[in-house]
Amino acid sequence: MRQRVLRGVPVVGGVAVGHCWWLRSAAKLDPMEAEEVPGDPFDRLERARAAARMELEQLIASARGRLPESEIAILHAQLLMIDDPELERVYREGIEQGKAPAVSWQDAVRTFHQVLSSLPDPTLQARAADVEDIGARVLRHLIGAPASPAMPTRPVILCADDLAPSELVAFPPERLLGIALAGGGPTSHVAILARALGVPTIMGLGESLHAVTEGAFILLDGNDGRLVVDPDPEEVREVLAVQQARDAEQHRALQQRLEPARTRDGYRVEVGANVGRPEEAHVAVSAGADGIGLLRTEFLFVDREAPPTETEQERALRTILEALDGRPLVVRTLDIGGDKPVPYLPLPKESNPFLGLRGLRLLRRHEELLRTQLRVLLRLGYADLRIMFPMVATLDEFRWARAVTGAIVQELEAAGQRVAPFQLGMMVEVPAAALLAEQFAKEVDFFSVGTNDLTQYVLAADRGHPELGDYQDPLHPAVLRLIAHVCKAAHAEGRWVGVCGEAAGDRLAVPVLIGLGVDELSVAPSLVASIKDEVRQWSLEAAREVARAALGLSDAQEVRMLVAEARARS
Ligand code: PEP
Ligand code: MG
Repeated sequence: MRQRVLRGVPVVGGVAVGHCWWLRSAAKLDPMEAEEVPGDPFDRLERARAAARMELEQLIASARGRLPESEIAILHAQLLMIDDPELERVYREGIEQGKAPAVSWQDAVRTFHQVLSSLPDPTLQARAADVEDIGARVLRHLIGAPASPAMPTRPVILCADDLAPSELVAFPPERLLGIALAGGGPTSHVAILARALGVPTIMGLGESLHAVTEGAFILLDGNDGRLVVDPDPEEVREVLAVQQARDAEQHRALQQRLEPARTRDGYRVEVGANVGRPEEAHVAVSAGADGIGLLRTEFLFVDREAPPTETEQERALRTILEALDGRPLVVRTLDIGGDKPVPYLPLPKESNPFLGLRGLRLLRRHEELLRTQLRVLLRLGYADLRIMFPMVATLDEFRWARAVTGAIVQELEAAGQRVAPFQLGMMVEVPAAALLAEQFAKEVDFFSVGTNDLTQYVLAADRGHPELGDYQDPLHPAVLRLIAHVCKAAHAEGRWVGVCGEAAGDRLAVPVLIGLGVDELSVAPSLVASIKDEVRQWSLEAAREVARAALGLSDAQEVRMLVAEARARS
């Protein structure tokens, strides 16, 4: 082959060395070429769905113990999708129009897939791959195709155009060294599963992956997205040595994950976890989180036909409190809007959903949703509860939310309930809020900087835009200057500042953030140990020096180089 080194998107770190094995995916079945199987089309669909359901249930059972429950939930969601009424409706229409069952089913899957993949919310987009996955599974049974592709007999590097979540879970783990995909992306469900399995993975390698032949010897570096075909033995040795050092670092981090994160000179940084489902609270605590730094409460409100009742909300929150056992809980009130649709909220179609009725702006138009949420939270009687509001742009908005909270407290107390003390804060995601931090600091108990949104608004680049990934770097000095400003204003009033966007989970960002004065970092549970470990590598003084220098640089790349050099010297 011409090209020896291929480049893709690094999705799961780690190095794999082995032979290429191509997965011929079941998703490639062509219903037009399928032999017609006799029988009533609706009975056939029912039987195919029952068989698919049984397979998935077996797969879920086999995944227990290998994958955390939060990841197994991806397969549970697929189980529900099999019986989706929309899929059945389009299937029925196709049959009534005289189409063959396999073709009608494929049309139904394609329609559903198109709807999901055109939605702006990446979480919903990720579901599109799940529809394809269960669609192919049902299709196989509908046309009586072979149960599953042949598996390799030795450990291999799995190469494929794309990989369905269930295909990955079904792959024998002891024979999976690494994954190289032509398509896919880092936020897809299969990426989440690969991460949970800890398999070095590169995605988005494109057409060039097809030039890698079955059995070719490959070096896959999931840390930088490089795939080397037929590598020099010297190069393999070097890459493996670097990986060994990384593994040792990770081992050390995991061993110390339950200890507090202190800089070399003893300065304590809280490291919390970002949690989006009740089951994750327990995972977060075992991963070493000092508390929950961001509870995304959207899980209570999406994927349903009516808003959750108070009892439902309370049940979910109590599961979280049990896991937390007194540790701090920062809850963000509902953050949905034009980009995350829910069926029971009639939202106008917006041409710029990220600049539209999001977060607090939406709650202001549906006050009852906020009131119910606050009532449930304040009735919990939890000793370390901190409530924050999303997408605050103006003081007036925060004051409104605070007044609603005050009214609920009064309401509860009038009914004879004692409300435990709590903190009331806000997300800093809108540049206007960051710039007016002095004014806000007089009124809030704390700030939590949402660097994902803050970066997209500061650089005017949609955070989900496929071609503007380069703009999404929160280490851009323009973003850092705003964070510095927020920390200074907050500390002048004795308030604390957290960061709960992805930046908090980026090791290179850690010294810059703590050097700017950030008091708390909240990250994905799987990153807690590594972020605590990074805090321990710095003295507060060195971190402050790096942060000061970073503010004077011109772009994020320069900041990354500065930190990497300072780290290598220390
Ligand atoms: C953020 O914007 O950084 C944030 C944490 O909120 P979300 O990613 O949920 O929008
Ligand atoms: Mg946000």
